[in-house]
This record gives sequence, C-alpha cells and structure tokens, in this order.
Amino acid sequence: MSGQILNDINLKQYSWFNLGGNAKNFFKPKNYSDIINFLNINKKLNQNIHILGAGSNTLFRDGGFDGTIIKLGSEFSKIKILSDGNLEVGAACLDKKVANFALENSIKDFEFLSCIPGSIGGTIAMNSGCYEHEIANSIISVDFLTLGGELKTFKRDEINFYYRGSDFGEPVIILSVKLKAIKGNKIEIQKKTK
Ligand SMILES: Cc1cc2nc3c(=O)[nH]c(=O)nc-3n(C[C@H](O)[C@H](O)[C@H](O)COP(=O)(O)OP(=O)(O)OC[C@H]3O[C@@H](n4cnc5c(N)ncnc54)[C@H](O)[C@@H]3O)c2cc1C
Repeated sequence: MSGQILNDINLKQYSWFNLGGNAKNFFKPKNYSDIINFLNINKKLNQNIHILGAGSNTLFRDGGFDGTIIKLGSEFSKIKILSDGNLEVGAACLDKKVANFALENSIKDFEFLSCIPGSIGGTIAMNSGCYEHEIANSIISVDFLTLGGELKTFKRDEINFYYRGSDFGEPVIILSVKLKAIKGNKIEIQKKTK
C-alpha cells in the first residue's frame, strides 16, 4: 500500500470544531487500489471504519475512535468537465473549489456550495444545502465502494436523499460524483455567489 496507516492520531486537527480524542488508526489512501487493499485486510480484522471528509459536520468524542478513520487524499479531489458537458468531481474536493470552478466555467446552481465548508463526499452524505438548493438536485450518479470492497455506481434515483442526509442502503465510501452542469450567465452567477 502506498498510503500510510498511522496509529494513535489525535483527531482535533481533523475536525472544524477542534475537539476529540485519538483514533486507533488513521488512513489516508493515495489511490483506489490502496482503499481496496485496506478493505481486504480489514475483512479479516473487522475493525470499525469511519470516513472523514473536511470534518465540518463531525464531532469526535474525547474517548476518540476505536477503529480506522479513512480520509481520502488529493488523488480524490480532482474536478473536470466531461465530454457531455457535465462535471465529474472527486469526493475529497472542497465545496468551495466546485463553486469556484463552476463560476469560472459559467455553470449555474453551484453558488450555494461557496458557503459550505465541506468536501463533496461529506456534502453528498449529508445532502447539504442552503438558499433553497441542496446537492441532491444536481446529482446524476455517484461512484462508491462498499466496505466489502465492491465498486458501484448509483444513479440519483437509486439513492435515498432526505433533509440533510442520504442513504445508499449500506455504509459506503463515496469516491466521485457526476453533477449536472447547466450553463448560465457569469455575471449573474457571480452576483448570486456574493
Ligand atoms: C461554519 C459552517 C457552516 C455550515 N453551513 C452549512 C450549510 O449552509 N448547509 C449545510 O447543509 N451544512 C452546513 N454546514 C455543515 C457541513 O459543512 C456540511 O454538512 C458539509 O457538507 C459536511 O462535509 P464534510 O466533508 O465536512 O463532512 P464530514 O464532517 O467530514 O462528514 C460528515 C458525514 O459525511 C460522511 N462522509 C464524508 N465524506 C464521505 C465519503 N467520501 N464517503 C462517505 N461518507 C462520507 C462522514 O462519514 C459523516 O457521516 C456548515 C458547517 C459549518 C462548520
């Protein structure tokens, strides 16, 4: 595995609220096969797993976490325009980066992400939103791994989104999302963002 598993890591630095004890293990996978290798090993160890995004909606207990925290690294934070004009965004990409990218490319309806301090993975998990928008409205499909190591793609309608939450039917590691891109007027997008 190229991503390191660190032991006994203090979680304060990984939460917006600067609280909490230590994680038994902390894993920052560098790529997709890193996660698969880890999940295969964990099948035997059967340790608890928690996926952490930007930590803006997470409070860790003083007692810490008895298991492995997985935090996706920069390999999972890419953002690109697909051949059909829609966006593909890695789960570790920050919401603000998506809002800025959309603005630069005159794509509307992502202005609301500029004020949410999360990652796209966390934003999908929480179905985050504000100003009458929520991420579920823009989702085409989500690529994710089950904790058993199976790679799946769910279309928007296969995911149960509700107010500030989502349900994939089992715990998942969101890897990336395809988002509907609708062209808009750059000045209007800029105004709305402000
Ligand atoms: C100042 C402030 C302002 C905020 N404003 C808003 C707002 O306007 N609207 C709003 O809806 N929320 C808001 N929030 C809450 C928070 O920012 C959002 O819920 C955000 O989308 C969480 O993303 P995160 O990456 O920080 O998630 P985290 O806190 O890291 O995780 C949240 C949940 O998502 C899961 N998760 C994270 N990444 C993945 C992944 N890759 N795969 C599977 N599960 C994952 C975690 O396991 C956890 O259950 C605000 C928070 C703060 C501190």
